[in-house]
Amino acid sequence: MAEICDVCGEPLGENNVSRCLICGGRFHMAWSIDAPVKNCGQAWFDERSCSLGFICTPCISENPQLRRSLIDTGGTPF
Ligand SMILES: [Zn+2]
Ligand SMILES: [Zn+2]
Repeated sequence: MAEICDVCGEPLGENNVSRCLICGGRFHMAWSIDAPVKNCGQAWFDERSCSLGFICTPCISENPQLRRSLIDTGGTPF
Protein backbone atom coordinates (compact mmCIF):
# COMPACT_ATOMS: atom_id res chain seq x y z
CA MET A 1 0.00 0.00 0.00
CA ALA A 2 1.86 2.97 -1.30
CA GLU A 3 0.16 6.08 -0.07
CA ILE A 4 1.14 9.38 -1.57
CA CYS A 5 1.59 12.64 0.24
CA ASP A 6 -1.08 15.15 -0.79
CA VAL A 7 1.42 17.98 -0.57
CA CYS A 8 4.62 16.86 -2.28
CA GLY A 9 3.43 13.71 -4.09
CA GLU A 10 6.13 11.49 -2.63
CA PRO A 11 5.35 8.15 -0.96
CA LEU A 12 4.40 8.19 2.69
CA GLY A 13 6.03 5.92 5.21
CA GLU A 14 4.25 4.04 7.97
CA ASN A 15 5.27 6.65 10.47
CA ASN A 16 5.63 10.39 10.39
CA VAL A 17 2.31 10.86 8.65
CA SER A 18 -0.50 13.17 9.74
CA ARG A 19 -3.95 14.00 8.49
CA CYS A 20 -4.86 17.58 7.69
CA LEU A 21 -7.65 19.10 9.77
CA ILE A 22 -8.86 21.18 6.83
CA CYS A 23 -8.74 18.98 3.73
CA GLY A 24 -8.32 15.56 5.34
CA GLY A 25 -5.33 14.80 3.16
CA ARG A 26 -2.40 12.83 4.46
CA PHE A 27 1.02 14.39 4.45
CA HIS A 28 4.57 14.11 5.79
CA MET A 29 4.88 15.24 9.39
CA ALA A 30 7.92 14.36 11.43
CA TRP A 31 6.85 13.16 14.85
CA SER A 32 10.21 13.75 16.39
CA ILE A 33 12.94 16.27 15.88
CA ASP A 34 15.32 13.61 14.61
CA ALA A 35 12.95 11.94 12.16
CA PRO A 36 14.48 11.85 8.67
CA VAL A 37 11.35 13.31 7.18
CA LYS A 38 10.54 16.73 5.91
CA ASN A 39 7.42 18.48 7.16
CA CYS A 40 4.71 19.09 4.58
CA GLY A 41 2.55 20.75 7.20
CA GLN A 42 2.63 22.15 10.69
CA ALA A 43 1.25 21.50 14.12
CA TRP A 44 -1.65 23.75 14.99
CA PHE A 45 -3.31 24.53 18.30
CA ASP A 46 -7.06 24.97 18.29
CA GLU A 47 -7.77 27.54 20.99
CA ARG A 48 -11.48 26.80 21.12
CA SER A 49 -11.18 23.07 21.72
CA CYS A 50 -7.73 23.29 23.32
CA SER A 51 -6.56 20.45 21.14
CA LEU A 52 -3.63 19.88 18.90
CA GLY A 53 -3.95 19.13 15.24
CA PHE A 54 -2.04 19.25 12.00
CA ILE A 55 -2.58 21.26 8.86
CA CYS A 56 -0.86 20.80 5.52
CA THR A 57 1.16 23.56 3.93
CA PRO A 58 -1.29 24.33 1.07
CA CYS A 59 -4.15 24.79 3.56
CA ILE A 60 -2.01 27.11 5.65
CA SER A 61 -1.32 29.15 2.53
CA GLU A 62 -5.02 29.34 1.73
CA ASN A 63 -5.98 30.25 5.28
CA PRO A 64 -3.53 32.90 6.49
CA GLN A 65 -5.60 33.47 9.62
CA LEU A 66 -4.48 30.05 10.83
CA ARG A 67 -0.90 31.18 11.06
CA ARG A 68 -1.25 32.83 14.44
CA SER A 69 -2.15 29.50 16.01
CA LEU A 70 0.61 27.54 14.35
CA ILE A 71 3.14 25.95 16.60
CA ASP A 72 6.66 26.52 15.46
CA THR A 73 8.17 23.06 15.41
CA GLY A 74 11.34 23.92 13.59
CA GLY A 75 14.33 26.09 14.21
CA THR A 76 14.33 25.84 17.97
CA PRO A 77 17.86 25.06 19.08
CA PHE A 78 18.21 22.67 22.01
ZN1 LIG B 1 5.12 15.34 1.62
ZN1 LIG C 1 -4.87 20.39 4.00
